[in-house]
Amino acid sequence: MNLLLLSTSVGPLGSGLGGGVELTLHNMAKTLVQRGHRIQIVAPAGSVCASFPVVEVSGALQTTAQSEGRDAWITMPPNSVLANLWDYARQVQDDYDLLLNFAYDWLPFYLTPFFRRPIAHLVSMGSLTDAMDRVIEQVVLQYPGTVAVHSRAQAATFTFGERCRCLGNGFDLSLYQFCPEPENYLGWVGRIAPEKGLEDAVAAAQATNMPLKIWGVLQDASYWQAICTQYPDAPICYEGFLPTAELQQALGKCRALVMTPRWIEAFGNVAIEALACGVPVVAYRRGGPAEIVVDGKTGWLVEPDRVDGLIEAIARLDQIDRLTCRQHAEAEYSLEAMGDRLEQWFADIT
Ligand code: UDP
Repeated sequence: MNLLLLSTSVGPLGSGLGGGVELTLHNMAKTLVQRGHRIQIVAPAGSVCASFPVVEVSGALQTTAQSEGRDAWITMPPNSVLANLWDYARQVQDDYDLLLNFAYDWLPFYLTPFFRRPIAHLVSMGSLTDAMDRVIEQVVLQYPGTVAVHSRAQAATFTFGERCRCLGNGFDLSLYQFCPEPENYLGWVGRIAPEKGLEDAVAAAQATNMPLKIWGVLQDASYWQAICTQYPDAPICYEGFLPTAELQQALGKCRALVMTPRWIEAFGNVAIEALACGVPVVAYRRGGPAEIVVDGKTGWLVEPDRVDGLIEAIARLDQIDRLTCRQHAEAEYSLEAMGDRLEQWFADIT
């Protein structure tokens, strides 16, 4: 097929601002090309997506939807990159069989009936605002089968969740090295923003006196400052934002990855990346991670928002076999399996 992949409008690919969507888009591009499809990625100016050529579109970035309230209005800056991306798509649509939308934004859903070509929408977050719910639902009803999500927990946040296709996610596991012998530290990976609940992981690190290394884009600087002020003596170290190759090397040495989301995490790419390196995952029993982690086998699931639960789980890490973690990632989250699901989805739409 000829496929146009339209990226998120909150940041250039490679910046980390797009969160898990960036790696997801990259992985999907990879598996589609391996299967002989022709793809074109179009993304905000400054984007880099490994060796894939990117049509770069300029304009002002969208703000992230997770920082807004339920009744938030739809807003777009002057010279919106989102509008420019979709204007480009409108012009070139006839060169493609299908458009694949990665943006959690109102405009692509609203525009769907105005396009001649079918649009597949991959929704990357749970329900956040009434305006988004409404426009996604309209597409779900008018174009059945075209809207996909990553997990059942994510789908359940929408009243129309049962009509969404559940795709999971897939990773090039050859890029993640199995690390049998960890060092004595914990890891936390993600955008540093309130919905990710980093403070609970820091509290657990302080209580267990187990060093915690933190990787990810500093999206909300005042949130990070507040954590540092609240826990001045916690054994934590911010390690910056790393490209996948370096991240997996450092991540592999962790005794565990700690995931403490406050929101319903749609999937949680970092959970699979950790498992792929043989790193157990300690996560709140909420959202995508609760579907990914097999309690007692690939990590521990903890009652949400309970730091004491995290502390107990950290004490029981020796019971988790690291090779089992790697094998579980291989069995459930390979790029090949993802490619099969994507092709089936596209076949059903076109
Ligand atoms: N990530 C990265 N380098 C880092 C930290 C994070 O590339 O130093 C990537 C990670 O590989 C993952 C993404 O950031 O793909 C975070 O995605 P996730 O699905 O866990 O959460 P989201 O940000 O989408 O809420």
